[in-house]
Amino acid sequence: MLKKLYSVFQLKLQIVNTDPILVKSGMASLSDADMAFIQTKREDKPECFLPGSSLKGLLRSHMERICRTLKEDSVCVPYGRETKEPKSASCSQFFKEKKDKPSRNNTKSTITAEIYGHSCPACRLFGSAFFTGRLSTSDAYLEKKVSPEQRTSVALDRYTSKPVKGALFTYECLPAQCSFHTSLTLRNPELWMLGALGYLLWDLEDGLLRLGAHKSRGMGGIRGTLQSFQAIYYQNPKDELLGLEDFLSSEERENYQIQRFDLPRFSLKEAKKEARGVQIRYDLLPLTVEENRIKKDGLLGKLAPYFHRYLESVRWWSAIHQW
Ligand SMILES: [Zn+2]
Repeated sequence: MLKKLYSVFQLKLQIVNTDPILVKSGMASLSDADMAFIQTKREDKPECFLPGSSLKGLLRSHMERICRTLKEDSVCVPYGRETKEPKSASCSQFFKEKKDKPSRNNTKSTITAEIYGHSCPACRLFGSAFFTGRLSTSDAYLEKKVSPEQRTSVALDRYTSKPVKGALFTYECLPAQCSFHTSLTLRNPELWMLGALGYLLWDLEDGLLRLGAHKSRGMGGIRGTLQSFQAIYYQNPKDELLGLEDFLSSEERENYQIQRFDLPRFSLKEAKKEARGVQIRYDLLPLTVEENRIKKDGLLGKLAPYFHRYLESVRWWSAIHQW
């Protein structure tokens, strides 16, 4: 089921850092600074960028917080190494133990279905050690090249508040108001995932997310604006917003524990439509954004109830134990 391609949602975002920002390079660098900004080569010249993996980690941890706030123990701890307490257990650890001792008539496909079915909401959307998530992020590149500036900082003694001798360090950062562009892609999402994405984009738009180093010291604030939003389908005779659940048989939905909620459906008849080969492409931006802001009652806002209904139904912790 996950090997077929039913739908692809492509979103383009502009990200502006509202504070100075530093995403540290884990590699040795030619810079004099103790902490250098991560760089890549574009057109053969080094350039600072925001790695897609950092953006994905940021979105995932924010979604985990939203899920836990709305419902206790509804998501796992991705790098948790045990399986006894929901507050420190990870889906991947459960699956590893399960895979080591297969039971019943387990074939590869039933195991894949069961793993998806028993994954917490964050693993379903962002992936785990056992399958690729529905959402992928690209690296964010500067719209106009900016060189990092170097700053000096010093650790302060906790008691005297005086600088600690020998604790002077230098770091690189990009000044505030640099503009980056990046894209997000969702392949075969369930409709609740688009509702969850709406919450993430809203908080990104409102400047509630921080990225990189020294977040508690006034760095790393970012704001994101949705610039383009397209849905690609390969079959959609009624011009409706369809999720993965709409393409599956009831047997497949049961195997993968995917629900089809009895909630209002959305017509895409108003959306600009273009046929490209086997693709049917819909422009969802006008249905979602008004004056550069995500509309409360726009497409993503209307999908929020799908996310709430799904989260209410999640029995991740008890289901994974009964498996
Ligand atoms: Zn999980």
